[in-house]
Amino acid sequence: MADYQGALPTPTHDTQPYWDAAKEHRLVLPYCAACDAYDFYPRPFCRQCFSWDIEWRDASGKGTLHTYVINHRPARGFDEMTPYVIAVVELEEGPRMMTNIVMEEEPTVDNLPIDAPVEVVFDDVTDEVTLPRFRLVQS
Ligand SMILES: [Zn+2]
Repeated sequence: MADYQGALPTPTHDTQPYWDAAKEHRLVLPYCAACDAYDFYPRPFCRQCFSWDIEWRDASGKGTLHTYVINHRPARGFDEMTPYVIAVVELEEGPRMMTNIVMEEEPTVDNLPIDAPVEVVFDDVTDEVTLPRFRLVQS
């Protein structure tokens, strides 16, 4: 945990609840009661109906692998992780989220099929910051 050198989020007023929940190993999403729909990323109003009646709700942490890239040329601080997977996961609740896919074996196009089921894992990268990432659901 102490040797994490990658980028860290800077929570804002609008994103602090998301990071607080992640630290508790919960994935939460903004929910609009007027639309009966979830949205992501966090913002103070609904981008569908412009309602300001947004609340945070726990998400299932399940989804599917929408798309990804296997990165072999690390950004600064990510050298130790190379190769790593930058992915867009489509959550069960609807929104898509950019994240990483974590896996034991080296990622390849053969072991990362599009639409594969994934589930959230929580990576405590520092004492203060936990990053929600995803892994393939083993069938
Ligand atoms: Zn709405």
